[in-house]
Amino acid sequence: MHATHNPKLKSWVESANDPASDFPIQNLPFGVFRRKGSTEAPRGGVAIGDQILDLEAVGLKTGPTLNVLAAAGRKTWRELRKSLSIGLADPKQAKRLAKYLLPMKQAELFLPVAVGDYSDFFTGIHHATNMGKMFRPDNPLLPNYKWVPIGYHGRASSIVISGTPVTRPNGQTRGQTDPPDAPPLFGPSKRLDYEVELGFVAGPGNPLGKPVPVARALEHVFGVVLFNDWSARDIQTWEYQPLGPFLAKSFASTVSPWIVTLEALEPFRCPAFPRSGEDPRPLPYLLDPADQREGGYAIGTSMFLRSAQMREQKMPPARLSRCTFQDAYWTVAQMVAHQSSNGCNLQPGDLLGSGTISGATPDMAGSMIELTQGGKHPLTLPSGETRSFIADGDEVVQRGRCEREGAVSIGFGEAAGVVKPAPKA
Ligand code: MN
Repeated sequence: MHATHNPKLKSWVESANDPASDFPIQNLPFGVFRRKGSTEAPRGGVAIGDQILDLEAVGLKTGPTLNVLAAAGRKTWRELRKSLSIGLADPKQAKRLAKYLLPMKQAELFLPVAVGDYSDFFTGIHHATNMGKMFRPDNPLLPNYKWVPIGYHGRASSIVISGTPVTRPNGQTRGQTDPPDAPPLFGPSKRLDYEVELGFVAGPGNPLGKPVPVARALEHVFGVVLFNDWSARDIQTWEYQPLGPFLAKSFASTVSPWIVTLEALEPFRCPAFPRSGEDPRPLPYLLDPADQREGGYAIGTSMFLRSAQMREQKMPPARLSRCTFQDAYWTVAQMVAHQSSNGCNLQPGDLLGSGTISGATPDMAGSMIELTQGGKHPLTLPSGETRSFIADGDEVVQRGRCEREGAVSIGFGEAAGVVKPAPKA
């Protein structure tokens, strides 16, 4: 850690010094923005309090995505962070930089990177256990789980920025109580769900055929966004065997607009998930002592729901899930090392999803299928409405924050989306 993490550091942008702000000077996350309602070209900016500082203020013209910045690597990210920190702390620079500020309220935000490829992992061991229990009560965790960071290749084209409406998917489903020879139906999913995840944005990446060693894996991670991996459970149940998730997941995934850099997250590093004595030792390509010691990140993230009725009644979103990335069995370095271990190339801007990060207790479940036990125990919202799964008109909002004694708390902003009815099947 160095000067940019100093908890005493303040900014001349006053709103950044509010302890409740997600974007104090110790955070400095990157996004892509333009003035709302304008035809300006989208460009890179950094969030500071309730403002956005155009990266042109430090001589950086990013263009409409941050892929070039992601590709530039750790040394560049560090220097940029340092100069932004100095500029936003020094009151003498306020006058010069003020013309590069735009209030966040007046900004339209875009996907911060063009995502070429997206994979989703399954690192949440409690989620894997909870889901396994529904299908295999005696043997919830499959034997490969503690050896292999399980994942699948997802769909990048349907990754959307926070605020984008999500259309309920149509798909093939067959009721679990239907006779086995009954034909499936095609129509709107009746079991629409969310998944509380984090998305890791790839940095420089590796050439095809040259794996990233686990000890150097973090050099290939630019930063972290909130990630809601919307899931249609009824479509998933019918389609997932034998090849895994397909259309149950590829209709939308919502990300937050601000990439919180690994460097900003330094104060919130923690040990990797504690393995019990019975757990296997990771294979050598997944094992690095420093990664075991401090390769975890204590990132808290919660999911909230606000129904159409709650919005009409001006009620705030109700919290459904409270999760922490400390419940991930595999570290981000292990995800990167595993993903590239066969020679597969990561490219700047690629996204690696953590998988649903449920905690050990029922209130820390990171999806509705876990919270309602497969829909059997509906939730009651503050409006008195009940939910087994997500209804049309519901707004689902993910937030994230890191808090630690002796450090200034930093946040992620939000990843939100309102569910729209399915098109006519
Ligand atoms: Mn997922």
